[in-house]
Amino acid sequence: MDFESLRASILDLQKRSRNLEPNAAERSTLNKQVENYADHFLNEIEMLKAFEVNKEDAEIIWASPITETPTDIGELLQLLSQSVDNTGLNPASGGHLGYIPGGGIYTSALGDYLAAVTNRYAGIHFASPGAVNMERLLIQWLCEIFQFGPESGGTLCSGGSIANLTAIVAARDAKGIKSSQVPKAVVYMTDQTHHCVHKALRIAGLEECIIRNISRDELDQMNTIELEKQIQKDQAEGWIPWMVVASAGSTDTGAVDPMQAISAICKKHNLWMHIDAAYGGFFKLCPALSNLFNGIEEADSLVIDPHKGLFMPYGIGAVIVKKETHLLHSHFYLANYMQDAYQSQAQYSPADLSPELTRHFRALRMWLPLKLHGLQPFRHALEEKLLLAQYAAKRLRSMNDIELRMPPQLSVVCFRITQGDNFNATNQAFIDYIQKDGEVFLSSTRIDNNLYIRMAILSFRTHLSTIDKAIEKLESFLTIT
Ligand SMILES: *Cc1c(COP(=O)(O)O)cnc(C)c1O
Repeated sequence: MDFESLRASILDLQKRSRNLEPNAAERSTLNKQVENYADHFLNEIEMLKAFEVNKEDAEIIWASPITETPTDIGELLQLLSQSVDNTGLNPASGGHLGYIPGGGIYTSALGDYLAAVTNRYAGIHFASPGAVNMERLLIQWLCEIFQFGPESGGTLCSGGSIANLTAIVAARDAKGIKSSQVPKAVVYMTDQTHHCVHKALRIAGLEECIIRNISRDELDQMNTIELEKQIQKDQAEGWIPWMVVASAGSTDTGAVDPMQAISAICKKHNLWMHIDAAYGGFFKLCPALSNLFNGIEEADSLVIDPHKGLFMPYGIGAVIVKKETHLLHSHFYLANYMQDAYQSQAQYSPADLSPELTRHFRALRMWLPLKLHGLQPFRHALEEKLLLAQYAAKRLRSMNDIELRMPPQLSVVCFRITQGDNFNATNQAFIDYIQKDGEVFLSSTRIDNNLYIRMAILSFRTHLSTIDKAIEKLESFLTIT
């Protein structure tokens, strides 16, 4: 190609790809339609079901493959509505009382919108000192909530699973667990520890570690007398005890392990103390619960999910560590092509502290709502959830044929129906009934071979009327069986 035709071809391709940069009028049209969709969704949210099966609708997306030519935004929003927002679980609904509910506060979506439009590179301080400072400020705030002290630090990530993985990798390296030692290395937890911790151990090359499930007391909290005995026994027998994983809010029952006692044991025997507070961590903002969280400040690492306890849309978790250098040690990497970025290393960058290099500018989706609303409404919403759980427990306790597993420590109410010859079958029938109805969504779990119903209250849209509705559904089930 000669020089002039090369220029002509380039200019032609520039023209042909112009659609990728909508002009002001085109943007305005797109924005209006997307905004209308979001408005419609939010205006209807009270009426929408929390769970909808509609499996056929979900398949429609396949009938619209990626092609060379454009599709109208209206048609695409219609497709989104029918095949996505009309099927399965609706985590934006206050009626979502299963698993651990998420959030989806609107102002966080605005932060995401701005983060995507400006597309700041939030991985390295040199590239966007402001975006990195914003993340550092949020991490510092989290470290202050948990009184982690002056050497602490951390990183934002996509959720609790990746946060647990990041912490476990740092713990492994800090404790010097080499691959040859893995089969002798021992990790302590309970059978209520979230499954993503097992997954993280496996991904981190620690699958062959010995897992000791320490027994639980009647509140599902780790039995620390047994923990200490087991560590001593393992040490005496030549095993390598190196980490305890405590839960600050287990997923099944919301149980908070006795962290003060666990930290004393970890210190005495030189073990890493990791706390999975993905679900329960933000309840630390409720003064009424301060005793329950005693000892959390002693942890070496802690995981917390803003997309749970701060009601943010899915896609934001955090890990904080007592000594930031531990995260740095496991994740720092200096590539030759990055040398410009490291000439003035004023402070650590997210890329030095996590597996990610290029990353979503996720600080903005957390910072904007926290600044815009202030912390108070978040605290009040969390306090409301705690009281709703107590209210639900009171109502359940007053009913016949209902057994509360234990008083709720946080906002999960775990109970079962004690009707019929086979309790498990009755409880499964109730779960089928409630999920078919779909107005509220509850999930079940199996503890010590018994099926339990879980009412997990964490959506900022779950209120008194939601709980009344869920109890009414339970009452009507009991009358028809
Ligand atoms: C939700 C949860 C996780 C996993 O977090 P994701 O954000 O779903 O990856 C881990 N631990 C506990 C206790 C949880 O509730």
